[in-house]
Amino acid sequence: MTGPSSNPRPHVDQLTDDMLDQLYAERDTYRDAWHSAKDRVRKHNTRAELAEADRDGWRERAQGYQAAIARVRALHEQYRFGGDETTDYCAHCNQISGGWVPYPCPTLRALDGTA
Ligand SMILES: [Zn+2]
Repeated sequence: MTGPSSNPRPHVDQLTDDMLDQLYAERDTYRDAWHSAKDRVRKHNTRAELAEADRDGWRERAQGYQAAIARVRALHEQYRFGGDETTDYCAHCNQISGGWVPYPCPTLRALDGTA
């Protein structure tokens, strides 16, 4: 059991030079630990801020890529024409190739990973 009776606390006028040296050494140890912890928190926060900025940049790029893919998909829209009610075609690919390109066209299959 610890407490005043088992470990009496000395009065100021009872402190020896050795006891004071020990107290100062402990104080220095705790101060160094405090500064070290503060530095680690500062570095951690800096890294977190950089990661957040990087994450925001990646999010922005991903949104840009998604918008580009949506524009490509809109360009390669599916359609049927009156003379053929059974087959779907790509409006854009048909227009630029002058032929009949079934839907989904090679561009959409490439986007879907099925080309
Ligand atoms: Zn197409």
